[in-house]
Amino acid sequence: MLSVLGVAAAFRTRRRRATRAAASPPDNPAGRPGGQLLRNLSVGLIAASAVGAVLRKLAGDELVERCTAEREISLTVCRQQEDRGYNRCDRYEDQGYNRCDRWEDEGYQACSDWRKNCCDWWPCSWVCEVFSWVCAAFVWISNIVCVVWTWISHVVCVLWVWVSNIVCVAWAIITFPICILRCLIPKAFAGNEVSEGRSECIYGWTAAYRITEERDCELLIVVRIRLNPDPGVNANDLQNARNTWEQAVEQAWTNRFPIRRSSGPCRCESYRVRVDLQWVTSGQHHTVRVRTGSGRADMTNWFITGTGGTAAHEVGHMFGNPDEYPDLACPSRVVSNDGSIMRSSQTGIVRPRHYQGFADWISRQTCCTYEVAER
Ligand SMILES: [Zn+2]
Repeated sequence: MLSVLGVAAAFRTRRRRATRAAASPPDNPAGRPGGQLLRNLSVGLIAASAVGAVLRKLAGDELVERCTAEREISLTVCRQQEDRGYNRCDRYEDQGYNRCDRWEDEGYQACSDWRKNCCDWWPCSWVCEVFSWVCAAFVWISNIVCVVWTWISHVVCVLWVWVSNIVCVAWAIITFPICILRCLIPKAFAGNEVSEGRSECIYGWTAAYRITEERDCELLIVVRIRLNPDPGVNANDLQNARNTWEQAVEQAWTNRFPIRRSSGPCRCESYRVRVDLQWVTSGQHHTVRVRTGSGRADMTNWFITGTGGTAAHEVGHMFGNPDEYPDLACPSRVVSNDGSIMRSSQTGIVRPRHYQGFADWISRQTCCTYEVAER
């Protein structure tokens, strides 16, 4: 009886030492099962790093820094998850072995209690002895099953943590080129010449202008207009009108609101907007017919008597903004009520939403988020 107990105890101790050694995460990952998987992953990761190196060149320091920081955060999360995972495996393992120990102790105790109450006359005492041996053997085998089960569970647990960690790390590394591309691709398509189709209600037009990021955090918006005067338009009148319109447009649209960074580590905390209206005879963004007399203007039909306010309103369309006044043809139009130039060309002013296109452009250009700030 004692020998059975002794063997069981010795087995338990030996198994435990062996399983601990096998199940604890080895230092050399290649020695673990799944070495081939790891090698394949390594090749993938090296390829990803090579792509990353090329992208680094294209992206510039600022973007590389930002994407590197994002990757480091991801890797830290992986490490924390891995640590937590292994700790959980260890805890489950300890709990498992403790449970096996407890069950074993209770089992042997039960067998021994049963044996104490044995009859002491033959053959009853002999049968009783045999039963106590069967009892002990059952406890012994149950314990082995319990220990093996705990060990296998631990190995599965450790493998799961290990594979999860590899996936996590691979993903963190792959996010680097993704992060770079996520910025480079929109930037490549941003360009400086904006030309976008717009439609509102029954109206359709093309917003077009040139936007560039200047030194000292300034956005320069150039809109080139070719004026086509009707035959009756007096040359002097046209010159005067041009002067009036240019001054009014630039004054109405320049530096109304700062375009402020709301996220990302980009160089400029905020941009000033400067609008430059240029009269050209070729390479124009918009061609405007100039009519004699007076009347109701639209984006491409102005009247020689038209005010600066009207010109500033029409240039608002050229920047992509829709009308905001009530229109019987457009019952579902959102009519503004905040003194907007797109509602009242003569008395209204530029509102923050009218700068939205500029903010969107610099956001794409820098990969930070910029928003128009109310003054
Ligand atoms: Zn209009």
